[in-house]
Amino acid sequence: MGLDHQVAFPFEERVPLPGEAIAVADGVWWIRMPLPFALDHINLWILKDGDGFTLVDTGYGVQATWELWEKHFAGVMAGRRVDNIVVTHYHPDHVGSAAWLVERTGAPMWMTTAEYLSAHAAHDDFGGFDRENTIQLYIANGVDPDSIPSTVRMKGGGYARGVPSVPKRYRRMMHGDKLTIGGRQWEVITVFGHAPEHAALWCESLNVLISGDQVLPRITSNVGVWGNQPEANPLHLFLSSLGRFSHLPADALVLPSHERVFRGVHPRIAALHAHHDERLARLLEGCKEPITAFQALPLLFKRKLDDHQMMFAMGESIAHMHYLYFQGKVKRLEDGGVRRYVGN
Ligand SMILES: [Zn+2]
Repeated sequence: MGLDHQVAFPFEERVPLPGEAIAVADGVWWIRMPLPFALDHINLWILKDGDGFTLVDTGYGVQATWELWEKHFAGVMAGRRVDNIVVTHYHPDHVGSAAWLVERTGAPMWMTTAEYLSAHAAHDDFGGFDRENTIQLYIANGVDPDSIPSTVRMKGGGYARGVPSVPKRYRRMMHGDKLTIGGRQWEVITVFGHAPEHAALWCESLNVLISGDQVLPRITSNVGVWGNQPEANPLHLFLSSLGRFSHLPADALVLPSHERVFRGVHPRIAALHAHHDERLARLLEGCKEPITAFQALPLLFKRKLDDHQMMFAMGESIAHMHYLYFQGKVKRLEDGGVRRYVGN
């Protein structure tokens, strides 16, 4: 990705320490919470809102996060009230502490409808969010059923580990809505492919985009097919919805959920397109002979994958195959309940 150098980090190597808040724009603070994964942190945002504050995203739902929130309540927020809690999407690192924050502050939670309902469904294993449903999809895409470790097969619980509960009430955000925060307008821009109705927030007067997980400065967002929507084309949704940022000024400050605050949204989006184009080309090359999405994994991932990573990697591989299929570049062969792809 030769476009990397066009992304600039105005705070250079600096990132918030636990309990520290870094002012990144007028009335906007950057904080970080720990995550118990290889990706070990999430960025959250505190926005000055009149005499109080609006919080954007909440952190994984564990004690360590809540202790740090208490530091921020006493620190940068100086004991003043929280008026709103905005959640970009339903993934555990974003919504995990929402119920705790709603309870602790009395503030309402704002979410898009698909994200709100997905959080409940993932928490309670309904609507096809159960793991077995996704395992069936992977088996249909070439994973050997006997190779799936029992730890992966174990029913549920993974999501609820980071999301002990989901609030039972919310305020709905929709694409194009303008949230007034601290006298400024923040426009809701919904984007797709990583999550069903992911909200990004754009403040023209501050020239700031809260991009959530949709645009990250170096790593690429997970874009996968899941069991409850086995014919989905999320990579198309992901790439096309990036177009919703095309009108942003070149020097907009981007606040991503992981890694560092940056400028250069357009070169970064161009690099994301190039990244996926390159992977699609490699995959198409591999489809000279019929292959399953499982057999395609080494074409997409050079590193050895652990069981947890394998789940995400399969979703990604199927997503890339579906993209080629819906473009008409590969066709599908079904044999014994297993799907293979071959170039047209
Ligand atoms: Zn996410």
